[in-house]
Amino acid sequence: MAEGTFAGAVNCMDGRTQEPVINYLKETLGVDYVDAITEPGPIKLLAENTDPRVETIKTRCDISLRKHHAVAFAVVSHYDCAGNPVEKEEQMQQLEASIKLLRSWYPEVAIYGLWVDDAWSVTEVVADVPA
Ligand SMILES: [Zn+2]
Repeated sequence: MAEGTFAGAVNCMDGRTQEPVINYLKETLGVDYVDAITEPGPIKLLAENTDPRVETIKTRCDISLRKHHAVAFAVVSHYDCAGNPVEKEEQMQQLEASIKLLRSWYPEVAIYGLWVDDAWSVTEVVADVPA
């Protein structure tokens, strides 16, 4: 079994969002490692839930949860997303829908919705933590 504590990040593939999200999750959740589940603009895929890549996102989240016992998942939206070039307002709706989908997969785990801004700083938009 893997040593250390984990969270899973459903992040964009964008190189500018990796370190901020990893550092944010390590600091706020106190985890040792962050599993990277990346696609271009994953919140668009998850919100629409029609693209076959959604299944592979779930497969990777399953590994993070079942094998690494991830304590939480983060779903990431960000400024200047090449894979999902829509305004922040629409991204916030996609983020909400994405978190609902992850919640339907995993009733038991905390799920956070994050926004990475134009200074590559991370803000928590949604905290969906089961009682
Ligand atoms: Zn992006």
